[in-house]
Amino acid sequence: MAHEAISVFDMFKIGVGPSSSHTLGPWRAAQYFVDGLFSRKQINMVEHLQVLLYGSLAKTGKGHGTDIAVIMGLCHQNPETIPVDTIQPRMDAIRDIKQIPVGGSSLISFDPEIDVQFLINESLPFHPNALQFLVTLEDGLQISETWYSIGGGFVIREGEQSLANAASAVQLPFPINTADELKHWCLKTGLAIHEVVLENENSFRTEQQTKQGILRIWETMRDCVFRGCHIEGVLPGGLNVNRRAAGLNKRLLGEKKYSGYEGWITQIREGGSDFKYILDWVSCFALAVNEENAAFGRVVTAPTNGAAGVIPAVLMYYIVFCDGYSDEKIINFLLTASEIGSIFKKGATISAAMGGCQAEIGVSSSMAAAALTESMGGTQKQALMAAEIAMEHHLGLTCDPIGGLVQVPCIERNTMGAIKAITASQLALQSMPDFGVVSLDKVIKTMWDTALDMNSKYKETADGGLAINIPISLADC
Ligand code: SF4
Repeated sequence: MAHEAISVFDMFKIGVGPSSSHTLGPWRAAQYFVDGLFSRKQINMVEHLQVLLYGSLAKTGKGHGTDIAVIMGLCHQNPETIPVDTIQPRMDAIRDIKQIPVGGSSLISFDPEIDVQFLINESLPFHPNALQFLVTLEDGLQISETWYSIGGGFVIREGEQSLANAASAVQLPFPINTADELKHWCLKTGLAIHEVVLENENSFRTEQQTKQGILRIWETMRDCVFRGCHIEGVLPGGLNVNRRAAGLNKRLLGEKKYSGYEGWITQIREGGSDFKYILDWVSCFALAVNEENAAFGRVVTAPTNGAAGVIPAVLMYYIVFCDGYSDEKIINFLLTASEIGSIFKKGATISAAMGGCQAEIGVSSSMAAAALTESMGGTQKQALMAAEIAMEHHLGLTCDPIGGLVQVPCIERNTMGAIKAITASQLALQSMPDFGVVSLDKVIKTMWDTALDMNSKYKETADGGLAINIPISLADC
């Protein structure tokens, strides 16, 4: 079996909420489509442009802002750098004048209400998250391109077998598709998981660039946690969900004064190490990220947007309560986490449209569990065991977001994923993995089998579960 090279920066991508598959992926697909128009020198020849959304993108695309993401991509805006507070004014302007600057400058007629179509009764066979760009050029030439958003912000164009990034062509010193292969390289070289991953990352770029890039990922996660812990109010979308992280932050810190992130961390640490206190903080960190995500804020896929709070929450737990406060420790944590996510992506899926929420919260919990275990001094086998335990207890978890919004149950679910990761890590640290019954590879296969058996109404369609038992008409809100 060929080894696919997935980098830490494929697993952790800076973007905009609320969904990696329904927001970031379609945004990227639109960007790549426009790149093609540029490279074929067709960008100034576009006369008419339409976007068709299929399957899960059509069913829950409104709640996930898929139309907005596609339009921003067509305008050639970058989700990593766009000031998030400019998105709504840009959309308002496009709706008002019914024109879009394709590629950033070429203004053509475009009415989002008509030219982005949600085909809720149609699906394409390759993947439930499909979108099609239909363009007519001035000379009458018609272009049709189909893209698939396959989870975690990854996209592929129809007809292409591999991921739409250059990484798949890179030769790695330690090719890894499975947990057994990862274990093999660790045992053969004596390297820790994060060291094996770093060696592989050196095939993409210099070690210094990798470390700087990971710290940028961390800073984005950290800023997201901090912001989310200080913004009150109601989340957009019509469900009237109250943001809770800021209130919890206030209650936990009481009258304590601080300035900035560093001061905040110092005050949290001074609160002690009572079990319930720590539990509340882990929840608070996770809630903060996913409230930001639901509010179309800047987040990092980990491995997806819906599950973006688990890894930052567990990493914050490690930093604040377990003495993990150094750049090197943070880098190592994220390297190990990314490898586990990439093994899940290769052996199963990180797309809720394919595998339900086990593919999002389950995978993020597994990634966090392995990273925490190794960071706490566990062996490579214990880290893999922790990853296995975390997923074992997310098997079968369905995706049923109310109103198609990444809010309920998604935001709270991140707190659960984080706590399970910490429990799994602690269990593994107290265990002898050689006597474990279930391997990580077996649990990944089980997760995939479960995904195949899962009814499609539990796969990010909002057609089942909480989504239909809490019938809320967003139009009425
Ligand atoms: S239920 Fe889980 S998989 Fe579905 S949108 Fe929410 S967090 Fe993502």
